[in-house]
Amino acid sequence: MSTMEAPSSVKECATGRVVRAFGNLVHVQFNGHVRQGEIAFVDVGGSQLKAEVIEVAGTEVKLQVFEDTRGIKLNTPVRFAGDLLEAELGPGLLESIFDGLQNRLVDIAERCGYYLPRGVYVLPLSRTTLWKYVPTAKVGEVLARGDVLGTTREGRFEHAIMVPFSIFGKVTLTWTIAPGEYNIDTIVARARDAKGNELSFSMVQKWPVKMGLAQGEKIKPSKMMDTGERVLDTQIPILKGGTFCTPGPFGAGKTVLQHHLSKYSAVDLVVLCACGERAGEVVEVLREFPHLIDPHTNEPLIKRTCIICNTSSMPVAAREASVYLGVTIAEYYRQMGLDVLLLADSTSRWAQAMREMSGRLEEIPGEEAFPAYLASRIAAFYERGGVYQLKNGKQGSITICGAVSPAGGSFEEPVTQATLAVVGAFCGLSRARSDARRYPAIDPLISWSKYVIDVAKEIESRVPGWGEMVQRAYRFLKEGNEIGKRMEVVGEEGTSLEDIFVYLKSELYDFCYLQQNAFDKVDAYCPFNRQIPLFKLINHIFETPFDFTNRDKAREFFLTLQGKIKSMNSIPFDSSEHEEAFQEISEMIERARKL
Ligand code: ADP
Ligand code: MG
Repeated sequence: MSTMEAPSSVKECATGRVVRAFGNLVHVQFNGHVRQGEIAFVDVGGSQLKAEVIEVAGTEVKLQVFEDTRGIKLNTPVRFAGDLLEAELGPGLLESIFDGLQNRLVDIAERCGYYLPRGVYVLPLSRTTLWKYVPTAKVGEVLARGDVLGTTREGRFEHAIMVPFSIFGKVTLTWTIAPGEYNIDTIVARARDAKGNELSFSMVQKWPVKMGLAQGEKIKPSKMMDTGERVLDTQIPILKGGTFCTPGPFGAGKTVLQHHLSKYSAVDLVVLCACGERAGEVVEVLREFPHLIDPHTNEPLIKRTCIICNTSSMPVAAREASVYLGVTIAEYYRQMGLDVLLLADSTSRWAQAMREMSGRLEEIPGEEAFPAYLASRIAAFYERGGVYQLKNGKQGSITICGAVSPAGGSFEEPVTQATLAVVGAFCGLSRARSDARRYPAIDPLISWSKYVIDVAKEIESRVPGWGEMVQRAYRFLKEGNEIGKRMEVVGEEGTSLEDIFVYLKSELYDFCYLQQNAFDKVDAYCPFNRQIPLFKLINHIFETPFDFTNRDKAREFFLTLQGKIKSMNSIPFDSSEHEEAFQEISEMIERARKL
């Protein structure tokens, strides 16, 4: 049995005193047993500041304190808790807003007002809410960690209450509670392990956040994740259980893109980690989300969302904790057979926190002073994504999307490079596109997705020739871009009419398809079944030879066509108005066709 299971009260926990403090790095002399990763509390005038053991040497440990360390002095007492940094998991995580240490921000605000004080920790999950619990496992059944004991409903999901992951080996169920309404601390089942120990299970369990936990078999992702963002679904598709990153310079639209993904992606749940970004943006999310409706289910979006925020105004050390907490919550729901999308905005801020700590620890710095283990930490984080085949036949997945905000917008820096080495798709946002207000500023010419072939195979059955169409669109885009650059030098006169057509067609593709207005009610969300006819139309335009011998006439025609398609994108899809617009555009193309 893992040590994390035993309640702290019966454990013999070490105590110590501060001998040195440097920013949030604190050296502590201790007696007793302390292990790497253990949680400790530094007692500053009655405030218990949460910290984590990051190095043990002899009878001295180094602690990373998650809070402001003002007031720590020589001999400040420290109490070790015996537990690792853990997440509390159970019904009620959805609709919650946590900080990196899993405090419910609303509860803290209610208790303490506008400014969050340090050293205040509240329980992550409500102890008073009653959950309708239905036992499903039968007395006498032999179970293992992750097996379902019973279920309760959380929003529209069946929330599985599982045998805790702190249990190793098989247990035999000896008792289960009758169906009814209980709070999460109620003992709902009892079991006996192989050694004859009696175990009791409530609806809550704790998982250490820094290591991935899963039961089942990791399998290759194969199903497309419909994001409602045309440029992604068509050119840079993502699979459920895949990983991708969205690096881009400041102000290029990373946060807007992440919010889009959180609202419209066709997954069961979204865990949104705002890590080290501006507080104002998070406030916007918190204001906006409760009023938004999930287009897939018509329910309030917040019902499928868990938000973790550690904004730039909150302690730097807890950034790391917020990223790990997010992925742990995602793993917990994945274990129930749900598809979860984890969004981290931004992983660069987490990397910066790592760099700060590494500097204080006087470690030998790697590139740009990031620690040498930067790449392995990033890889280990994305490794926690993936699809799992569970024992009960269900499949669960975690799709991870990390925003990266490289200093100066250069993708050659260590965080972007380390991320690119491990992700399955790269959606690079470019300054040139955002300056030209070509939103989303994802540059399709530099971006790539390793899932392109798998997705094309999946779609091919629905839309024959899809893969070919995607390749054609990319070719036009690339050629059009080259011709456009050439035209800047030699002018239109030096460009052949044929090339001008390629250029105009590629620009039309860019304007009417790749660009999408996140602030237009209809255009913001373009589900895949709407993308198909539009993409077919664009491909039809690619293939149509046009009857213009005059450059100006051609340009004028394409501008009108572009305008019509753009306004069609803002008309609801299933309306007769949309059908009429589509018809009109098709006729316009036919009239201009070269016979
Ligand atoms: P970042 O997170 O990369 O610093 P933001 O996501 O905050 O940048 O975007 C900055 C601004 O760019 C937004 O406030 C918005 O005005 C504009 N913008 C970004 N993406 C879009 C989009 N898809 N549609 C329209 N405007 C956008
Ligand atoms: Mg941002």
